[in-house]
Amino acid sequence: MEILVCVKRVPDTSENEIEINSDGNDIERDDLVYSVNEWDNYAVEEAIQIVDKVGGSVTVVTVGDDESEEVLRREMAMGANNGLLLTDDAFEGSDGKGIATILKGAVEKGNYDLIMTGAQADEGAAQVGGMLAAMMDYPYASLVNLIEAGDGKLKVGREIEGGNQEMNEIELPCVLSIQTGINEPRYVGIRGIRKVASVEIPELGAGDLGVDAAAIGEDAAKVKRVDYFMPDMGEGAEMLEGSTEEIIAKLIEYLKAKGGLK
Ligand SMILES: Cc1cc2nc3c(=O)[nH]c(=O)nc-3n(C[C@H](O)[C@H](O)[C@H](O)COP(=O)(O)OP(=O)(O)OC[C@H]3O[C@@H](n4cnc5c(N)ncnc54)[C@H](O)[C@@H]3O)c2cc1C
Repeated sequence: MEILVCVKRVPDTSENEIEINSDGNDIERDDLVYSVNEWDNYAVEEAIQIVDKVGGSVTVVTVGDDESEEVLRREMAMGANNGLLLTDDAFEGSDGKGIATILKGAVEKGNYDLIMTGAQADEGAAQVGGMLAAMMDYPYASLVNLIEAGDGKLKVGREIEGGNQEMNEIELPCVLSIQTGINEPRYVGIRGIRKVASVEIPELGAGDLGVDAAAIGEDAAKVKRVDYFMPDMGEGAEMLEGSTEEIIAKLIEYLKAKGGLK
């Protein structure tokens, strides 16, 4: 099975203090530590496991800049066979539809049976996978937490409300958005990353992908971010400050005072 997994380079929330920038339209992106979007890492692990069982190959693709190459290499160190970097000044400021349009160009250049995205990424819109499926006219299942590969079809489990589980059959080619917890992504060590450090990763721009520049980028974005801010604290709310130990101690005090802990 030929599998394409869409991966996004995102700020690592465990490594950064996220702050709003001075223009109030984005987070402050200077000096952030980045990593691969958590959901995408599960998708790559699942793709590798499927290929281990039924054969084929896994390609990881990202829309980004030169620095985004690092997430492709990380996922290749994990076991993905190929990387593909989609990069062009024209891509900057794209909304979810723009990103899906660019990814569609990559899907059409390959011969993929299965396209996987994460259920959501850092901007939390959870829209790219569904839009890509609609643009390709492929069937789509979201929040997938179980996959069994069959002949020309997949059995997919979906997490639904109330902790219930749904099973579906879906025809290939299709797009799936993957939920965390579907597997346990393998550890990637420095040695693995070194192994793929010099593997050549093809770069494709708007022209190579046959993407109409008018359909992508900031000018084409039909969803415009108009403000970005921390909400006011609700009445009675208090932010606990201090080191992790101090915050935990204060939290235990509060819980005891409210009768939540004996
Ligand atoms: C400077 C800047 C300006 C922006 N301007 C706008 C704007 O005007 N309007 C707007 O709506 N958004 C804007 N965005 C948001 C940006 O376009 C989002 O990355 C995009 O909308 C995807 O949203 P998401 O993170 O919510 O992805 P989701 O839809 O939550 O992601 C789901 C999955 O899609 C795939 N995916 C998402 N992004 C990528 C990627 N880059 N490469 C490969 N796979 C990917 C991944 O598999 C991911 O798990 C801007 C971002 C920046 C940094």
